Amino acid sequence: MHIPIRKIIFCTIMITLAYFSLSGCMPVTNATESPKTVLPSSMENNAAASKTDVATYSVNPSEDGSYYVELFAMDTEMTLKVYGNHGREAALAAVREIQRFDHLFSTGLSDSCVSTLNAQKKAIWPEDAITVLTEALALYKSTDGAFNISLYPINQAWGFTSDTDYRIPGDTELEALIQHTNCEDILLQEEERQVVISDPDMEIDLGGIVKGFTSNRVMEIFEEYGCESAVVSLGGNVQVLHRKPDGSLWKIAVQNPVDDGNYLAVIQAEDKAVITSGGYERYFVDDNGTVYHHIMDPATGYPANSGLLSVSIISDDGTLADGLSTALFVLGEEKAIDYWRQHADTFDTILYTDDHRLLASGGLKDRITSDTHAVIFFE
Ligand code: AMP
Ligand code: MG
Repeated sequence: MHIPIRKIIFCTIMITLAYFSLSGCMPVTNATESPKTVLPSSMENNAAASKTDVATYSVNPSEDGSYYVELFAMDTEMTLKVYGNHGREAALAAVREIQRFDHLFSTGLSDSCVSTLNAQKKAIWPEDAITVLTEALALYKSTDGAFNISLYPINQAWGFTSDTDYRIPGDTELEALIQHTNCEDILLQEEERQVVISDPDMEIDLGGIVKGFTSNRVMEIFEEYGCESAVVSLGGNVQVLHRKPDGSLWKIAVQNPVDDGNYLAVIQAEDKAVITSGGYERYFVDDNGTVYHHIMDPATGYPANSGLLSVSIISDDGTLADGLSTALFVLGEEKAIDYWRQHADTFDTILYTDDHRLLASGGLKDRITSDTHAVIFFE
């Protein structure tokens, strides 16, 4: 018997919102509501455009001149807050794009581009999807396979794709599934935008990277509309446009994986994504109290047991930040630090270890604070 626990990523959003409210950047009104908030009918509601939406969304003007949106997409709660003359139109355009991506990358919809590829092993994909796939495959290479999009059948075997049928697969079952996780078998013909999977038993899932790609795109939309400032949280993955309207830096709280009551750290940022991966986001516990989470070590088929409780990535590039937060979590402290040393021009990182050390890359020296931990910097 296993006790299923799905600690929905919403708690990270709560922390983010709560902190924004403390810092005066985000209204507190929604901070204690449940994830499936029913929105006031007087607000501008829009029925779901995508088949995967389970709720309506609303674009709400705030007293500070911003527009605020809550929606459920990509299996998570999302919030957008945008400032500027065309904030309302920008927010609506961003929601449409999120819903489009939700549909493109869903593993739950049979007509998404991911499901079509998984079923037919060959598909023509739209340009956005090709871009994500290209970045995912580049990360597979640069992380020596720690970031691997072909673990979908392994995630399924553990029950993480349904979040109801959790189980511990046997070693023979996992060894058989690992045989079909060589991403060299994913062939990309960029000009034709065609993707081919040469292994008939391989299935992919872009869940480890797609939210960061989406927040990147949302920032592009906000820029296209000339917005002066914005902050989005897609399941706790935060990305900000420029500075706050008062000219100060955004303050983004990073959740403490073992203490809901306190933030691990606060990052000051402008034009950055701050994206965190941790085993605490989705997991179940067996009868012996062993925790099994959703980030898989491609080498074992088991949840990664790398000595890290969470990894945050701070980068201009949300796609990179999302992929790397997952990958460095798998790699563990030593390899993660080595990776950062080789790519320090593209991101910074915060590593929280299972012995509760808070490590941060040198680039964060002037931008990170923690009320609860001494920050140990590495260069
Ligand atoms: P994230 O929350 O961004 O760390 O992504 C976790 C999700 O990525 C999981 O729910 C899986 O869908 C997928 N995933 C799990 N392990 C890996 C891995 N090693 N590489 C890439 N994606 C993974
Ligand atoms: Mg990720």
